[in-house]
Amino acid sequence: MHEISIARAVLRMVEDIIPTGGHVKALRLRAGAARALEPEALEFAWQVTCLDSAAAGSKLNLTVDPWALRCRKCGRQFQSDDWQTSCICGGAAELRAADDELILEEIDLVSPPGQHRSVVQGRE
Ligand SMILES: [Zn+2]
Repeated sequence: MHEISIARAVLRMVEDIIPTGGHVKALRLRAGAARALEPEALEFAWQVTCLDSAAAGSKLNLTVDPWALRCRKCGRQFQSDDWQTSCICGGAAELRAADDELILEEIDLVSPPGQHRSVVQGRE
């Protein structure tokens, strides 16, 4: 279950950002399609991983980006949730990018109260 390693990487990012003594209420994460994350599995992995941390009990909101594709025939660039889809011209699509980003977009803090907006890109 690679969601566990993702959850650990996210927790490291969170702990690097929040102030000492801070406690996390919620966070928003954006992942590239190639991460192939299952939102439920990641949510579970997150709850387990952050148990003894400043993010214990926090809510992880995940957004998965669609695939960035390009048609091999006409060159049209488009996005889709299905990487095996074909272009409207009938041509086969190929991947434009690796789409393996893992971006921590926003952290909601309980203490000190407030919201920490940041875009942090990480690799597990
Ligand atoms: Zn095309």
